Amino acid sequence: MSKNIVVAIDGYSSCGKSTLAKALAKKLHYIYVDSGAMYRAVALYFLRNNVDTKNHEQIEEALKNIHLNFHSRDYETHITLNDEEVSEEIRQMPVSEKVSEVSALKEVRREMVKQQQRMGQSKNIVMDGRDIGTAVFPDASLKIFMTADPAVRAKRRYDEIHVKSPDVTLEEIFENIAHRDYQDTTRAESPLVRAQDAIVLDNTDLTPEQQLQFALDRVEAIAGH
Ligand code: C5P
Repeated sequence: MSKNIVVAIDGYSSCGKSTLAKALAKKLHYIYVDSGAMYRAVALYFLRNNVDTKNHEQIEEALKNIHLNFHSRDYETHITLNDEEVSEEIRQMPVSEKVSEVSALKEVRREMVKQQQRMGQSKNIVMDGRDIGTAVFPDASLKIFMTADPAVRAKRRYDEIHVKSPDVTLEEIFENIAHRDYQDTTRAESPLVRAQDAIVLDNTDLTPEQQLQFALDRVEAIAGH
């Protein structure tokens, strides 16, 4: 039997990674895992329980009490934190503002990476994040590194969330994205960096359909779908 196919999609915040990953998984009938949702759910737990990110005991204790699960419906991300559906709450600004601090903790990364590796063990999978092609699946069949103009990224995210969060301004979103990019690329533990063998996809001027075709062509080349 041939080895399972792992597609790793990494890149900056709000680059459309999950849109592409979702569309690709749906088209190929692969499993889709949004690794960012896991870090966001952990950040939500830390916020709710006032976990001190400088206290290693508190961090370890919190991780023991956090149980995450994905429920895949229509390739949308439905994630539960200790059996509570938190998919909406993890997209709100308080979590977006906390998540990069929490995801920089080595205890948190160690635990999430372990869980992510387990998910990709025997299935065809598309996973998006920041360190999928470098740390989680360094032997991934295909690695895509996504980037786009920061102003375009902020506008896309603004259009996505302002219906549900009308008070959030475009400037706040721009700043949050810039801040997360900075924290994600400069942290000590598996910082966001392009894997040497990753294909760069700058989607500033590309439609979602063009991005999907780009990825499908690459998967076809390696998997012969
Ligand atoms: O992908 P998303 O923007 O939802 O990710 C939220 C945050 O989670 C990122 O800004 C980053 O700090 C963290 N993250 C990470 N490693 C991943 C996925 C996300 O550090 N593989």
